[in-house]
Amino acid sequence: MKFVDEFRAPELIAKAGEEIRRLAVPKRHYRIMEVCGGHTHAIYRFGLKDLLPANVELIHGPGCPVCVLPMGRIDDGLALGAQAGFIFAAFGDMMRVPGTHGSPLEYKARGMDVRIVYSPADALKLARTNPEKHVMFFAIGFETTAPSTALTLMRAKAEGLHNFSVFCNHVTIIPAIRAILDSPDMRLDGFVGPGHVSTVIGCRPYEWIAEDEGKPVVVSGFEPLDILQSIVMLLRQLRKGEAKVENQYKRVVPWEGNRAALRAMAEVFELRPYFEWRGLGFISQSALKIRASYAEWDSEQRFSVPGVRVTDPKAAQCGEVLKGVLKPAQCKLFGCECTPEQPVGALMVSSEGSCAAYYNYDHRKPVTIASAASV
Ligand code: SF4
Repeated sequence: MKFVDEFRAPELIAKAGEEIRRLAVPKRHYRIMEVCGGHTHAIYRFGLKDLLPANVELIHGPGCPVCVLPMGRIDDGLALGAQAGFIFAAFGDMMRVPGTHGSPLEYKARGMDVRIVYSPADALKLARTNPEKHVMFFAIGFETTAPSTALTLMRAKAEGLHNFSVFCNHVTIIPAIRAILDSPDMRLDGFVGPGHVSTVIGCRPYEWIAEDEGKPVVVSGFEPLDILQSIVMLLRQLRKGEAKVENQYKRVVPWEGNRAALRAMAEVFELRPYFEWRGLGFISQSALKIRASYAEWDSEQRFSVPGVRVTDPKAAQCGEVLKGVLKPAQCKLFGCECTPEQPVGALMVSSEGSCAAYYNYDHRKPVTIASAASV
């Protein structure tokens, strides 16, 4: 298959691994963050970590939109969706994410009208076909999915469809990277930049990371060779003492981004003054809210939102894992109290969550009486 087979060719992958080992200076320890959860899954799914020398360490970043959502936002969305006459619509990734009193699927089992949709446009279709109900779309995602929410809201407004609204949880990637770089317990040498987000925002928004922070960034695709080649490009820069933004994923990511998508986002959204991220706390101007001109289709402006703030279960270390301070298997609950079947945190549920990647492809930590007792 074009653009897949050549990026999974074993001989090319072996060569890239050799090049990484050649470029990595033995006395130096490299800490490279892959920002995007999609990269984390590819790294573990294809066993890429095993091709790296011990001194090239990959740190998993916060680029999983389901994982960074604090539990209070899930509770707020479920409280709205549980009202009589509502349909709660969300992506499948959200369905097993725990809120304080259960996940959307558990609410569904208790009788709430919960529907899985594959796009915001599907949620709009639900509103058209259920005029007696109010359809609330629980929107999540970085700049990757925000344009489709924006276009759906524009469509709802154009059609005058009033039984539809969006509970907006869209976040933006750059402030999260800034928060990580500002974190005193984090030392990083460079970034494998997020491929999907960059199809929309392009490569320019990362330039400050290279220019002001002196860290190289390589925007990367998701196939094994993409990721290894990106690490090669980062190591070449580090060897030369350079720090610049490079685009490994040129076949998909335009340097200037997708102007039509950015225009749609600018029409519908503005930046929130601040937003709470799981593990990272409140970050200013890090999320999108719906503009007043679309208030009628904004669940938060139209209905009363409880505004719940909840801390994660005490033993859960989702925050440290999201910041890259701990590896998933270092969380005390990993593989015993927290599994994909019985998740405690969103990182174990989402298809982009690093705990799910570890559990499914890497570290299946056996449950022992001692490990269970130490929780
Ligand atoms: S194992 Fe579970 S509780 Fe621990 S960090 Fe991962 S998702 Fe959170």
